[in-house]
Parts: sequence; structure tokens; C-alpha cells
Amino acid sequence: MNFRNALLLSLMIPLLAACGTSFSIPQVGEGDTETATKMFAAARAEPVSVSLSQSAAQSRFQRVARRVAPAGKKVCEAATADREDFNCSVDVGIDTKMKERNAYFTHVNGDPVIRISMPLLMDTQSDDEVAFVLSHEFGHLIGRHIEKQEQQAVAGALIMGALAAYANANAAAAGQYYDPNAVSRNVEIGAALGSIAYSQTYELESDTLGTYIAKTAGYDPVKGAQYFARPEDVRTEAGNLSFWGTHPPDEKRLATVLATMREIEAGGGLQQK
Ligand SMILES: [Zn+2]
Repeated sequence: MNFRNALLLSLMIPLLAACGTSFSIPQVGEGDTETATKMFAAARAEPVSVSLSQSAAQSRFQRVARRVAPAGKKVCEAATADREDFNCSVDVGIDTKMKERNAYFTHVNGDPVIRISMPLLMDTQSDDEVAFVLSHEFGHLIGRHIEKQEQQAVAGALIMGALAAYANANAAAAGQYYDPNAVSRNVEIGAALGSIAYSQTYELESDTLGTYIAKTAGYDPVKGAQYFARPEDVRTEAGNLSFWGTHPPDEKRLATVLATMREIEAGGGLQQK
């Protein structure tokens, strides 16, 4: 690599690194992994139980949201105390139109919103599972993941675009063919790479934050996180990504929840980096 490319990369790598997690994710121990593996196998071996009725699912949601929303707000306010105007008042509700079993965090007109679908609610085996899913979505707000993914996408696009532009300029200077499309193509590839790079880390950070919130709300995060261990297609019949497509079932996630619980029980608090 020549000096200019090296300089370019050295300038841009911190841009990507700046998009890491804001909170420490607890170190997973051997015991956590072993327990997670056993729990995962047990969850997979369990027969699928009967799903809840619409009204029972609605009551479960109301019962759980009443406790998780204030707990999430409390953890959010403590974690973002140094950020002026950070909005922790999340509108938590049911997405009545969504046909897939899914839950998500987003912004509507700049305000934070968490939605959970009816099919997901009807599929839950306990209040703890709904509590963990909602608490996990709070984690995406507190970890500022949407904001960071956007910054990462821009940084990724800048790196690829700049490298392509530089290579093209060199080619043009040497009298070779200059391809203007290569620049925009690389910008697009860079944007895609940037937005994927930290998604697994962000899920783990949300699981850590979600564990604190569910526990604060009085639920059992370990029992709740078992929802993630369900065998399920990552795509729905309509070809959309299901909850398991956006949240891959992964023993590491369950192990992270177990490790976070150990920290909470040892009297440890949320560790801001
Ligand atoms: Zn998530």
C-alpha cells in the first residue's frame, strides 16, 4: 500500500471505530456458554404450545408494557444523562397490521417508537418473554444504534468511494480508462458493508441493556431470552425477514444474558465505556 492510501485508511478507520458500543458487554464465561447450550437444546426440544387468543395476547402486552416502559425510561435517562435533549419517552405499542412475528424500534416524526406484532405476542409462552423482547428494543434506542448505523454507512461509503476515486484518478493519469460508475458502485457497496459491520455487536449490546431493563421491571431476563432460542424460519411466507432473520437465534446471545445476570447479581451496574 502506498503512503497516500495508508494515510486515507488511517484517517478513516477511527471513523468506523467510533461507531462501536457505548456500554461494556460482559465477558461470557465457559459456564455461561455451557448453560446457554443446554438451555438452547431444551428450548428446541420443547413441543410448540398452543398460542394465545387475541384478547389474552393484548392483556399480556398491556400488563408487561405498563412495567417495562417506565423501567426502560429510567435506565435510558440514567444512561443518557450527559446527552441534552435525548428523548427516552418511548411510545410502546402493538403493530396491529404486521402479519409476521416481529418487534422493532424506530423513530416516527423524530420520536422513539417500539412496536411488537400480534402474532409474536400470541406466540409467547410467558410475560418474561414479552418483557425481554420489549426491553431488548429499548436497548437499540439507548445504544443509539440507528444513528450509529447511519454514521457507519456514511463512513463505509466514504472509504470505498475515496479508494475507488483515487484508483480511478491514478488510472486516468496513466492514460487508462476512467470509469465514473465504479465510484458510485463502490459508494453503494461501502454503505452496505458499513451497515452490516456492527449489527451482531449491537444485538449483544441490546441484549445486555435489555437484561438490565427486564430485571428492573421485575421480570426474569434469562427465562425471557429463551424466546430467541425458538426454531423458526428466518423468512416468512411473504419473503420478509422474520424476527429470527433480524435477530438470529444464537447461543452467544443467551450466554451474554447469563453473563449480564451474573454481573447484576454481583452488584455491578451498567458500565458505560
Ligand atoms: Zn435487536
